[in-house]
Parts: sequence; structure tokens; C-alpha cells
Amino acid sequence: MVSRVVFGRGSFNQINEIIEPKRLNERAPFIYLIDDVFKSNTNFISRISLLYDDYIIFISSEEEPKTTQVDTLVEEIILKTKATPSGIIGIGGGTAMDLAKSVSVMLTNNGSSEEYQGWDLLKCPGVYHVGVPTISGTGAEVSRTAVLSGSKLKLGINSDFTPFDQVILDPELTCGVEKNQWFYTAMDCFIHCVESLNGNFINSFSKSYGKMAYSLCLDVFLNDDLNLEEKQNKLMMASWHGGMSIAYSQVGVAHALSYGLSYVLGVRHGLGNCVVFNHLEEFYAKDVAQFKQMIDKHQISLPKGICKSISQQQLDKMIDVAMNLNPLWENAIGEDWKSVITRSKLEKLYLKM
Ligand code: NAD
Ligand code: ZN
Repeated sequence: MVSRVVFGRGSFNQINEIIEPKRLNERAPFIYLIDDVFKSNTNFISRISLLYDDYIIFISSEEEPKTTQVDTLVEEIILKTKATPSGIIGIGGGTAMDLAKSVSVMLTNNGSSEEYQGWDLLKCPGVYHVGVPTISGTGAEVSRTAVLSGSKLKLGINSDFTPFDQVILDPELTCGVEKNQWFYTAMDCFIHCVESLNGNFINSFSKSYGKMAYSLCLDVFLNDDLNLEEKQNKLMMASWHGGMSIAYSQVGVAHALSYGLSYVLGVRHGLGNCVVFNHLEEFYAKDVAQFKQMIDKHQISLPKGICKSISQQQLDKMIDVAMNLNPLWENAIGEDWKSVITRSKLEKLYLKM
């Protein structure tokens, strides 16, 4: 679990006083990994005090994080920094936050980040790391995973060392998010809840968080009485609770298939989940109906036919990536999932998207 969290509109102003006590010494900087959408936002950047050797690295979230990107960042930091950094601060969406988590743990664990994709493979705690979400939905701010694409698969670094030591939840930071992206990333949260609540791994702990996040999502997307600020506040809390829900259970069919889309076609996570979920009546009928209601209400358009002209080789790779995610299928279908989920079934599903 994340050990410290602050919430509130404007709470980002506390960042300097929150992190300063964690400074190891003057040679050990804080390094900020910030989504480059904020690069020209001088108002925002000026709220960060860079002291001693502290510096900012702007991150493009055009593509989702890769193991090679993490390895390069870690190498750059080691070359540029005189001492182990005092902390890594990730500011942005799931992309910037997962990069920050990965860099933090790879500064203290040997080898390539690809060696740690999986469950509980890290040997040492990372350096102090702080997460500041600027878009709501992934739950990356609270989860024990940092999702990366490697040379063979898209899989997280899942470990007790991965979660942030500190999170700052300031809903005001989500003000500039574009409408479609707002919806796609928020639906990541909705889908986390659906997959957690309907899975075999569900338990009272996960259920309490999942139910809360699910109803917050419905409130945000279907209740006309909420003003914009309330929507931003509630969605940020939905993201947190949805992340908590899957931290102690697991995701399911939509995520397994979405990982395939992302790995082969580079479809971003939130959008990929939406494209997949739209076709999952067989598994989550009631929730797919809710999802379609939200899509219609907010006039969101989803791309169609994205797998229509791909090669058989690409299709096979997508199916490989999806089928490799054993825990997701066990959660969604059960231990005997291979008798239900066949390659040809997945092929048909992908071709519908
Ligand atoms: P993202 O971080 O990729 O950002 C999406 C877009 O929103 C980008 O263009 C970004 O620049 C923009 N953006 C972010 N904040 C903004 C703001 N305040 N104003 C304007 N634009 C803003 O999107 P995401 O959906 O948050 O994250 C997706 C990533 O998260 C994927 O890599 C996925 O694998 C990962 N993920 C991680 C977890 C986890 O538990 N670690 C869970 C789900 C998804
Ligand atoms: Zn997700």
C-alpha cells in the first residue's frame, strides 16, 4: 500500500514541504519525471522548487512505457547524478507514474527492467518515490505494479517495492485533460471494478473498494447534478479505489485482450480497454450495457475495425500476449479457463474490434 497520501484541490502546493525532509544530502537530488504536456505550462512548473542538483526530465506519453526506455532513463540518471537520488517524483498519467515507479526500483536493482516483469522478482526497495496523478482512472497512483512493454510481452513489475511512498491527489491538476482521453482513462477505472467484482479472486477487501469506485464512476458519468469540480474530485477517488480493488484481486478478460492490442498495435491502455470492453457482453453483460449508456451520453466515438487489416502473424502475437496472462484468466474464468478460452475464440473477438 501507499504509505502516505494527501488529497485536496490545491494540495500540489505542498509538494516542496512534503519532500524536503526526505532529502538525503545536497548531492542527492530529487528528479522529477513530468508528462511533457506540462512543459510549456510555466504556472505549473514554477510551483516546483528545484534546489541543489534537483532536475526535471520531461516524458512523452505518446507511447506507453517500455523496458528499454526505463533502462535508458536509469543509465542517464546514474551518469548525470553524483549520488543515489533522494527521490523520484512522477507527475502525469499512468505513463509518467509507471515510469517513475520503474526508475525508482531499477536504481537499486541490477540488470534490465525486463528481468523484473512478473511478480515479486525485485530484490531491493527502490529509492523514495512520489506519485502525482494529473488524469484519473488507471489507479497507477495506488497500485503495486508498473506496467511496461518489453521485448517479449507487456507485463508489470509487480512487487511490494513498487507502490509510491507518497501520493499527492490534487483534482485541480486534471483540468486540462481532453474529453476523449478523459473518458478512456476513466473507463479504465470502471473496467478495473467490473473485472475485480466479477472475478473469482474477489474478497471483502477488494469488494468494498470496487463497489465504491463503481458507484463513483456511475455518478460522474450519469448524474447531471454534479458540477465539474465534484466530477473531478469523485473521479480521482474512483481511480484510487479502483486501483485498491485490483491490488488485492485481479483484472480480467478486457485487460488480457487489451494488452494484446497494445503490444502489437500500440493502442493506448484506456482506449484499448474501451474497444475491447464494447464486445464483452458474453462475460460482463450488465456492465457492458452501462458502459454503452455512458458512451452514448458523452458522445464518445470508438474506432472500429482496428484489427481488420492486420496480418495473421500480428493476430497470433496478440493472442499469445493475451493467453500468456494466466492470473487474469484464472480470475475471470477459473482454473480451467483453457477449456473456455481458445485461440480461435480470441481470434474471432479480435476480428470484431
Ligand atoms: P497517459 O499517462 O498515457 O496520458 C494520456 C494522455 O493524457 C497523454 O497525452 C497525456 O499527455 C495527457 N494528459 C495527462 N494529464 C493531462 C492533463 N492534466 N492535461 C492535459 N493532458 C494530460 O494515460 P493514462 O491512461 O493515465 O495511462 C496509461 C498508462 O497507464 C498505460 O501505459 C497503462 O499500461 C498504464 N496503467 C498502469 C496501471 C498501474 O496500475 N500501474 C494501471 C492501468 C494502466
Ligand atoms: Zn487498466
